[in-house]
Amino acid sequence: DTAPTGLDLPRTTEAILAADGHLVQSWADLNGLKKPGARTAIVAAKGTMVRDSDGNDLIDGIGGLWCVNVGHGRREIIDAIAQQLSTLDFYSTFYTFTHPAAAALAQKLATLAPGSLNRVHFSNSGSVANDGAVRILHHYYERLGRRTKKLVLSRHGAYHGSTYLSIAMTTPPYSKGWSKAEGIVHHLKKPHYWREGADMTEAEFLDALIEDMRTQIEHLGAENIACFIGEPIMGAGGVIVPPAGYHKRVQELCAHYDIKFVADEVVTAFGRLGHFFASEAVFDTQPDMITVAKGITSGYQPLAATLMTDEIHEVISGPDGVFTHGMTYAGHPAAAAAGLANIALMEAEHIPERVRVTGKLFENTLRSLGDIDIVGEVRGSHFMMGIEFVRDKASKALFPEALNIGMLVARKAQEKGLIARPLGHILILSPPLVLTEVEIARIGSILRD
Ligand code: PLP
Repeated sequence: DTAPTGLDLPRTTEAILAADGHLVQSWADLNGLKKPGARTAIVAAKGTMVRDSDGNDLIDGIGGLWCVNVGHGRREIIDAIAQQLSTLDFYSTFYTFTHPAAAALAQKLATLAPGSLNRVHFSNSGSVANDGAVRILHHYYERLGRRTKKLVLSRHGAYHGSTYLSIAMTTPPYSKGWSKAEGIVHHLKKPHYWREGADMTEAEFLDALIEDMRTQIEHLGAENIACFIGEPIMGAGGVIVPPAGYHKRVQELCAHYDIKFVADEVVTAFGRLGHFFASEAVFDTQPDMITVAKGITSGYQPLAATLMTDEIHEVISGPDGVFTHGMTYAGHPAAAAAGLANIALMEAEHIPERVRVTGKLFENTLRSLGDIDIVGEVRGSHFMMGIEFVRDKASKALFPEALNIGMLVARKAQEKGLIARPLGHILILSPPLVLTEVEIARIGSILRD
């Protein structure tokens, strides 16, 4: 029985989909959803598997939404949430109030985060954590009397969320036809060598990216730019791994021009690349801010955080100024308890360390699909992978958009027992980090089929 006790939930597929007619889904083709069979109701989950309302057990190849890092149904997290709720269901972190779970989680994050990222502002989603990063930096520069530093450098291919500001920081095609915070955000080149590198070597491509950034900074004026924001590996933009050394050079350029460097680690933190944070351990950078969400609770509760250096915190907490920023549920006791239990579990089971082995096996398993005719590029790292389909390998020409090749492959995979995420002509795999070798082999064989 998949219905929790005490709730009168619809049980059959028919009843769930009838109720679902009232639910406006996110990031969906709302017209396409009217077609029969377009939606999948997930009713239960355990470990790396989910069950749909028809009773099919499917490998959760996308970890919920790049977030269920420790796997589904972990008693340790569920019990911590329940215990926290029975002790203190809610209090905010507004004004003079605080509570033990938020305080302890902030302290834990400060010990795990690189450099002097010792101050933590909680929120409820990655989008809001990124909005918050920009708002906090605007406030920071205001307090320093440098009021012109407002602009944000982002990149084509980025995904930073879908609030009014974070969608503006996201790659322009995602916000096509929607109004957004125009004027604040400028997009740098997409750091995707395989697609954009033309006849350059990778080193030349990297030089060109850095030159593009330098030109844009000079054009806009460093005195007008607050920050650069970037995902260490771009996720929803198609799993783009920039050329080696890219992040370090971007950070050096930021430091040269006195522009803050913000790493959006909403996907890459909490073990997905084999470390709690990827910025320093994988990419050798020391950001001024890191934003996290998703894996911080493995999805068991909504929680996000904007981590900042002591230096930024010192300025924003100087005399004569109120920090007019915050959301009611930021650092919610249940979410903070989930975060603490999730991190404790990751540490006890050495999950980041294990990912360095199993994640590499997963990456290599997917890379071995590169010999298939329609596979143009397999890319990513560890448990963050993407497969780009092409009509022609040599020219890298794409299939017609109307064919919706990603969706076609994803549907076939689901019929065979695997949930994968289509994204135009790309298929994304971001499974729980506790995938076994047998499950990794199974995913490889389903995709090859
Ligand atoms: N940043 C990155 C890199 C993401 O992948 C996402 C969501 O997928 C977000 C931010 C937005 O997070 P949320 O959906 O929790 O608002």
